[in-house]
Amino acid sequence: MIQQTIPTWQVSDWKGELAGAVTSARELLLRLDLADSPLAGRVLGATDFPVRVPVPYLSRMRRGDPDDPLLRQVLPLAEEERSTPGFDTDPLQESRHNPVPGVVHKYRGRLLLVVSPACAINCRYCFRRHFPYRENTLGKREWRQALDYIAGDNSIREVILSGGDPLATGDEHLRWLVDAIAGIPHVERLRVHTRLPVVIPGRIDERCLAWLTGTRLRPVMVLHINHGNEIDNDVAAMAARLRQKDVVLLNQAVLLRGVNDSAEALESLSEKLFAAGILPYYLHLMDPVAGAGHFDIPEKEALRLYAALQARVSGYLLPKLVREIPGAAAKSQVGHRGL
Ligand code: SF4
Repeated sequence: MIQQTIPTWQVSDWKGELAGAVTSARELLLRLDLADSPLAGRVLGATDFPVRVPVPYLSRMRRGDPDDPLLRQVLPLAEEERSTPGFDTDPLQESRHNPVPGVVHKYRGRLLLVVSPACAINCRYCFRRHFPYRENTLGKREWRQALDYIAGDNSIREVILSGGDPLATGDEHLRWLVDAIAGIPHVERLRVHTRLPVVIPGRIDERCLAWLTGTRLRPVMVLHINHGNEIDNDVAAMAARLRQKDVVLLNQAVLLRGVNDSAEALESLSEKLFAAGILPYYLHLMDPVAGAGHFDIPEKEALRLYAALQARVSGYLLPKLVREIPGAAAKSQVGHRGL
């Protein structure tokens, strides 16, 4: 049973938890009693995309289990060096939709601001693992340029704060940014795409809630949770703090080999999300990013899993199965007519 009491955190030490993240595969395996297991021999040595796992997330992994679905998402394996045909460093061709630094504008009516190059956790399947964040890290002058771009296109109703992870940025800067966006009359909604409160639930404290909900913009938070074991009492309490302030809570997951590739795992994820007040929104086919081919699930198999999930859950617990196709006007729903 998930605890529903809401701790009244004025200010949490989320920065300390961020700084204290585990940053080596060896330490990760040591803490999980796996340092002497065969898994240790499959770990990738040096990598440009280092290990990063905050302790609250690590504490949800099962000790002694080399197949733990949370560990699988963060442990760099030698398979990353295998090249997979069709897998690329910029699978969504986002660099083609980068009109000014910090802005990714792919779809009509909304655009994405790259608020922070940092993440609290490095997910091995991340489609932005090769994104040129350095070119998209903004100073005050570039922020003005990005805000002018939004102000100059009155079709934009929604601004999405993204990254990296936007919540890796301090609250003072986020307050300034949200106030500036709220000053653009045609913007109605503020969407935050984040995984940080899942890995460090204390990130949602009073300071964060103040800028997120103290604005005329309607706040929506899209979390990123791939497996039911990622939702513990602290994550449920974090979601409750957001719901109490009327923040719309959605989840997007990625379908990943060895993580959630069974109808049982997907059903459990939907049930646990709903119990925590989060609606399953998207289930993504993985973007074909270089280094992550071992997570891939072919479309035919994904459709079979999806049909099995559909037979198990209520309609409102069924996320949309989607994939991003570079250049398409929106996300493409996969095979929905055939089910
Ligand atoms: S939190 Fe999101 S952006 Fe950051 S590494 Fe994971 S998938 Fe990528």
